[in-house]
Amino acid sequence: MPEMIAVERALALVLEAAQPLPAIAVDLDEAAGRILLEEIRADRDQPAWDKALMDGFAVMAAGVTDGRDLLVASTIAAGADPATLNPLRPGETARIMTGAPLPPGADAVVPVEQSHEGAATDRVRFEGAVRPGDHLARRGDDVRAGTTLLDRGDLLGPAEIGTLAACGRTRVQVGARPRVSILATGDELVPADRTPGDGRLRNSNGPMLRALARRAGAEARDLGIARDDPQALREAIESGLDADALVLSGGVSMGLYDLVGGVLREAGAEILFERVAIRPGKPFTFARRGATLVFGCPGNPVSSYVIFQLFVRPALRRLASHPRPEWEAVPARLAAKVRQRPGREGYAQVRARFKDGRVEADPVPTTGSADLVACARGNALAVLAEGVAEFPAGSEVPVILLDDHADR
Ligand code: AMP
Ligand code: MG
Repeated sequence: MPEMIAVERALALVLEAAQPLPAIAVDLDEAAGRILLEEIRADRDQPAWDKALMDGFAVMAAGVTDGRDLLVASTIAAGADPATLNPLRPGETARIMTGAPLPPGADAVVPVEQSHEGAATDRVRFEGAVRPGDHLARRGDDVRAGTTLLDRGDLLGPAEIGTLAACGRTRVQVGARPRVSILATGDELVPADRTPGDGRLRNSNGPMLRALARRAGAEARDLGIARDDPQALREAIESGLDADALVLSGGVSMGLYDLVGGVLREAGAEILFERVAIRPGKPFTFARRGATLVFGCPGNPVSSYVIFQLFVRPALRRLASHPRPEWEAVPARLAAKVRQRPGREGYAQVRARFKDGRVEADPVPTTGSADLVACARGNALAVLAEGVAEFPAGSEVPVILLDDHADR
């Protein structure tokens, strides 16, 4: 019997084997969701000129007196060239739009809301105090040229993409998306678009694992279904070993036709472990050949789902250069009691939500390890310590809020 290792040890072995792929350069539209692998500095001051922050009037604050008219000498729109603006003279103001450059001499902007224009449109009067610096930004107030805006290791979300665009970085160095091959194994499987005959069932793991891989930032390739036959399995496995990772489902337990471990050995893969003290998912093979990582997930759909979330996802994120590839659990209060058979660390489907300033986790009823619908109904995994048989309602357990936690 292969040695059974703890979840923590298994994850450490997986993360050690998964080293970040070399950086690649991509266009900005390809960059979202990836990890930035260079430091980004501002190429220019932002704003690059003194500018109005409100629609209104540019003035010399000291020259504004309650009730006195000023002459509207010009109108300045956003996009005007600062070099072409006439300086304000005493008694003058310039109508100015948000984002437009301030004319020389102006040291404040009075918002339209504080202005009164009489019948003569070239005259304006203001109410309330006007202080130097009101409603304007000086050159470089937001960002000075050369300031570091984004760091290596930052995840590129929409705000980071906008920041890159603002400093003209339309091509950036980022982490590569790992290429993942997905192979389902089992004589009983038919493709999901076929009606299964007697004794057969649809391959649900393949599409599920591909969706999980894409969710984790990888490019997933479908290798279809391999029969439980050493020759066929060997060929299918070989065809997947050119990827950064090969994810298999099925064929890793103790049955006569569980051939994945043997075939991987024959193919020259180094097996790092084959049993993890986890429920669901004990039979889980992790191997590598050359630079390719191989994950032999259990065939049971729920086990496959949990094993992917806990081990494959962190590995793919590490390949993609995520500085923190693993999940971080948060403490949650159980809304109802949960039981488990002790002896292995348990992962239970729960529905987590925020309630009264904390996370509450509602256990999802399940019929067992084929019940994928329970995974669909849940949005988080409660971590059940090994050796504890019952977690009472109201007790605190760590939960992993899965990717789509906020959506369901
Ligand atoms: P195995 O690990 O190959 O012994 O499979 C365990 C259980 O998972 C069996 O009941 C299989 O029918 C089921 N199973 C295996 N592969 C798949 C798959 N790709 N889709 C759905 N169920 C599967
Ligand atoms: Mg099988």
